[in-house]
Amino acid sequence: MTSSWDLRIARAGELAKKNSAVSELLEFYQRLARFQKSVYQAVESSPDHDLAILPRHFPALLSLIRESGSPALQESAQALEHASAEERLDLLTGFWQHEVDLDQLPPEYGFFAHALLQPYAEYLAGRTNASTEASPPLCPFCGSKPQLAVLRPEGDGAKRFLLCSLCGTEWLFRRLLCPNCAEENKDHLPVFTAAEFDYVRVDACDTCRTYIKSIDLTKNGKAVPVVDELATVSLNMWAQEHDYQKLQPNLFGV
Ligand SMILES: [Zn+2]
Ligand SMILES: [Zn+2]
Repeated sequence: MTSSWDLRIARAGELAKKNSAVSELLEFYQRLARFQKSVYQAVESSPDHDLAILPRHFPALLSLIRESGSPALQESAQALEHASAEERLDLLTGFWQHEVDLDQLPPEYGFFAHALLQPYAEYLAGRTNASTEASPPLCPFCGSKPQLAVLRPEGDGAKRFLLCSLCGTEWLFRRLLCPNCAEENKDHLPVFTAAEFDYVRVDACDTCRTYIKSIDLTKNGKAVPVVDELATVSLNMWAQEHDYQKLQPNLFGV
């Protein structure tokens, strides 16, 4: 059976070949996803699934960043190189419990924390059933913001789900509802698409000026939402130019 990590790695490779503008980003993502897969497997086989097992994966992540990270990530990697095991665990715990004062930390630290916490959270979330009919704006499992929306075929139409930015939980969410400010008037919820990616939409809100991207699996069943969201960063630039803020930047800060 192909794991969901393998699907992501394969899809990133496929899209990197097709789209030279994002090939570097997707190849970097591929390396990162291989690392995250190894963390996931380590969490899976650990007896107690305690957060304390994560710091031991820091060295591999730091060396991946030294080899292929951006200059800003490399700088933070250097600082984290000198952090003690305890400081590294504190960083992870702070992000996991949503108790981090983001203004006090270099923004790149969020990358390291999320790179390690995502596979951990995804493993834990996969063992529980946090589904809900109530359209909550935050993940019903871990309380994080959604990374993107997914439209899945349902009868003749599609149902909309939000995908958690940390643990990968998908939860049902009403189609005409802003996940940021709860606006529900469709006249204030414009949808934008670009001709080159007809299955990816920018779902915007004119009331709070935020947007979330939706991957429409009824139009492209091969899409792997997290990867296709990355491969279409040109839409993020477009939205930003039109004065919309992304509800939750992805792991790479875009
Ligand atoms: Zn979550
Ligand atoms: Zn809104």
